[in-house]
Amino acid sequence: MSTTQTFEFQAETRQLMDLMIHSIYSNKEIFLRELISNASDAIDKRKFLGLTDKTITQAEENFIRIELDKAARRLTITDTGIGMSQGEVVEHIGTIAKSGTKEILQQMKESGASTTDLIGQFGVGFYSAFMVAEKITLLTRRANEEKATRWVSTGAGTYTIDDDARPTAGTTITLDLKPADKENGLPDFCEEYEVESVIKKYSDFIAYPILMKKTVHKTVGEGENAKSEESIEEATLNSMKPIWTRSKNDVKDEEYNEFYKHVSHDWEDPLRVINYRAEGRIEYQALLYLPKRAPFDLYYTSFKGGLQLYVKKVLILERAEELLPRYLRFVRGVIESADLPLNISREILQQDRHIAAIRKGLTTKIISELTSLLEKERDKYADFYREFGPALKEGASTDFENKEKLSGLLLFASSNDKEKPTTLGEYIGRMKSEQKDIYYLAGESRLTLENSPHTESLRAKGYEILYLVDAYDEIVLQNIGEFSGKKFKSAAKGELDLSDEKEKKHDEEKVKEAEKTMGTLLGALKEHLKDNVKEVKFSSVLVSAPSRLVGEEFDVSPYLAKILSRNGEKVPPMKKTLEINGDHELVKKLFAFYDTNPNSATLGDFAQILYGHAVIADGGDIADVAKFNKALVAVAGTALPGKP
Ligand code: ADP
Repeated sequence: MSTTQTFEFQAETRQLMDLMIHSIYSNKEIFLRELISNASDAIDKRKFLGLTDKTITQAEENFIRIELDKAARRLTITDTGIGMSQGEVVEHIGTIAKSGTKEILQQMKESGASTTDLIGQFGVGFYSAFMVAEKITLLTRRANEEKATRWVSTGAGTYTIDDDARPTAGTTITLDLKPADKENGLPDFCEEYEVESVIKKYSDFIAYPILMKKTVHKTVGEGENAKSEESIEEATLNSMKPIWTRSKNDVKDEEYNEFYKHVSHDWEDPLRVINYRAEGRIEYQALLYLPKRAPFDLYYTSFKGGLQLYVKKVLILERAEELLPRYLRFVRGVIESADLPLNISREILQQDRHIAAIRKGLTTKIISELTSLLEKERDKYADFYREFGPALKEGASTDFENKEKLSGLLLFASSNDKEKPTTLGEYIGRMKSEQKDIYYLAGESRLTLENSPHTESLRAKGYEILYLVDAYDEIVLQNIGEFSGKKFKSAAKGELDLSDEKEKKHDEEKVKEAEKTMGTLLGALKEHLKDNVKEVKFSSVLVSAPSRLVGEEFDVSPYLAKILSRNGEKVPPMKKTLEINGDHELVKKLFAFYDTNPNSATLGDFAQILYGHAVIADGGDIADVAKFNKALVAVAGTALPGKP
């Protein structure tokens, strides 16, 4: 005896369904694309699971069948796919498994984005049927089970689950349709022509026949006896031609876009389509897509990328991650090759030299497409980079073979232009003739960097500086090391070697002079700052700032150190050199004061201020805030004339 169990939808699912039910999205017809896409995926899955698991039975013939019942206002989709066990129904249909749903819903509420955007973010799939149906019934049987499950919901917060029977494995979804309302984007999906045109538009490439009974008008007899006869025949609505085997010129942009939505479950058109045939030692056909937007979990380690892999028209892997390097995991699409064995396994995949050759070929192709996008459509590239820049940086740091090309694809904020980021190539093109290195400075914001004491001497020379406002860019540049033979040099580390011989001499003399007249100050300051700095010396580069902290070549910047330690990483404390500006009035006055009051505690306060100034200018954290503040208040108190 079967018992009906009633379940409640999760809160987020309910929220999402509410949005669907009341959606003003004008393209409600896309529900059909979603259900057909699911049906096709299910058939693929049954086939490829069957390759290795003999308990998965196979259908005699695979198809997706649509039935219309005008009188009952009912549309039914049946597939010969893998089906679902009862547990799977509850897991996949009753809940939204995708993590991050809550966050996205929250963001939506806050930003007031439209439902259309929401649909784009989720790929709501199955739930889109609630845009057109007032009740949905799903009857399904898994390909290795005897019993079937019935799932029913009107979308009003609950669904029911029943044991049921189904003669064969597969899934049937029955939609009790809402009344048609063409003006509000709800055509009558009981009409054959509506359904047929939606399928032609969105699902023509589906690899299995989409069958539907159609009224066919025929003329029988000839001449005077000719008469029109009406009959009902089952027809295949789609051409079933794999889109990647068709010649580029025969495929419309919309067809490429629809296929993209099918493979990626994205609701937006892709940014770019790459259709590519490799000939030679190993032959394969690739249809690749660059999405417009990065999935919210792209940069989580759990993210699964991968391309569909077909061998001789059979889908053998749904997500073959080995076909691309990890950093290109955002690329979607299909690869088909006849040169691979049909029973290829994950283990083989990892070692197969054909796969390695395909990966190499695809990587080269994708990089060259991106390079051409950068060169020819800069704005579009900038949009792409905003979403996928971190992935390219990952590539530039890890793919040694393509390091130079990938580095050339990176964009950085720079002192050259407030708005437009620069490539490394463009930076080199603007370098002064005597300039040797590519200069950068890492920090919290453009404003901090523009006013940093470290860049004073570079700015005076008219040298461009890359502003690394993304903390990890510093690591990226350290990993890359150099571009086009030019080394990266942090403005905050070590000697910059900016001057010609004459200037150098002048700088050295300036420093010597300061040491001669005020040298005793250095040791005194060092004594007060011995816990904080390695050394105190006079600077040859500071112009208007009184002090700065200089690190060694491989030190992390204070800003990066801050980010890392906030992320729970251990950053060993690194003592730096405090440089003070011997030409600065504050330093001169401080020396005069120290010269006459060598034992005054006030020197300690000033030492803290000079040090703290340099830390703050670098966007770092002052370790002992209490001490710094005490010094600040004490020093400020001496600045006002008169007695209280
Ligand atoms: P998505 O297809 O993006 O994963 P859906 O909400 O459309 O999201 O579907 C959720 C899951 O339900 C699918 O991933 C699949 O596991 C299962 N499913 C949906 N439709 C079918 C079907 N016709 N046959 C078998 N499983 C299905």
